[in-house]
Amino acid sequence: MPKLTDPFQRTIRYLRVSVTDRCNYRCFYCMPLRGVPWEERDQFLTFEELTRVIRLFTELGVDKVRLTGGEPLVRRGILEFVRQLSRLPGLADLSMSTNAHLLADHARDLKEAGVSRVNISLDSLRPEVFRRITRNGDLEAVLAGIDAALAAGMEPVKLNMVVMRGLNDDEIEPMFDYAVERGADLRFIETMPVGEAGIDGTDHFMPAVEILARLKAHAGAELVPVKGGKGAGPARYYQVGQGPARVGVISALSRHFCDDCNRVRLTAKGDLVLCLGQEDRVSLRDGLRQGLDDEEMKAIIRAAIARKPRSHEFNSDTRRVALRHMSSLGG
Ligand code: SAM
Ligand code: SF4
Repeated sequence: MPKLTDPFQRTIRYLRVSVTDRCNYRCFYCMPLRGVPWEERDQFLTFEELTRVIRLFTELGVDKVRLTGGEPLVRRGILEFVRQLSRLPGLADLSMSTNAHLLADHARDLKEAGVSRVNISLDSLRPEVFRRITRNGDLEAVLAGIDAALAAGMEPVKLNMVVMRGLNDDEIEPMFDYAVERGADLRFIETMPVGEAGIDGTDHFMPAVEILARLKAHAGAELVPVKGGKGAGPARYYQVGQGPARVGVISALSRHFCDDCNRVRLTAKGDLVLCLGQEDRVSLRDGLRQGLDDEEMKAIIRAAIARKPRSHEFNSDTRRVALRHMSSLGG
């Protein structure tokens, strides 16, 4: 299988695909209240185009795809799209990131269609705090979505909590208990300065070391780094005491997670984004709509990967920031 390797000898095996920039929530660290200037729908890649691009990536060695957004479940036809993707021979792992607002009704069908696992945003277990963070979110619907994902046998169900000082940091411990009770994975995320809304989030920045110290006190046990549990993703995992509970932390600012980055991102309008924290991007839509054949498209993808930067430039002091909104990038 041909490999996509960048100039720093990192092999790209993971594609995150934002299927829409639209969302039914307005998390304040992700999107401005008014929403973002939506892309016109005809600017979005069609599901047919997306399937073709993803097939090309699998032929270049990518075997892991995560569907994200915006909120992927608000795009009409998503289920049929998932069915198409799961027929791609090279695709070993198809997952989704969702706010779970619509998941209660879709979890079983999604699982049957080929989404084996989900990541779900859950920043608070208190309805009023949840609403303040998401601006219009419905905690009850989300909790029902989580239960539905577990009942459908998605494995693992990962809960992602963006920890924000003064907003939800008093829920680190209850969130841990909630996840342990359900056998869900839990990951704590530091706020990242992506886009205008992301800067608002960094006003509440809380470093991972502090989160871990709180958990250690709560569990009354050591947090032992899980060997080999880091994988190529940005999360670092810790076993709580003798286990089996474990937690992950995603720490963009306080630790570089770039050295073994294996991923690139595709926006809904077909821009290949080479790094979450840099502006470099290459349009694949142009080539698709100019009628380029598979080999020509692959040449564009390879040339793009050759431009992947070594690392992001997030920096908590200078607050140097990427200009995009996280909602168009999919996290
Ligand atoms: N709507 C889906 C969801 O909320 O899971 C998928 C897209 S969302 C952009 C993906 C992830 O990005 C979520 O876990 C969200 O919490 C995270 N995210 C968005 N903005 C962020 C920021 N400024 N800092 C850290 N994480 C952020
Ligand atoms: Fe929507 Fe997810 Fe962004 Fe919240 S984090 S506004 S749910 S895309």
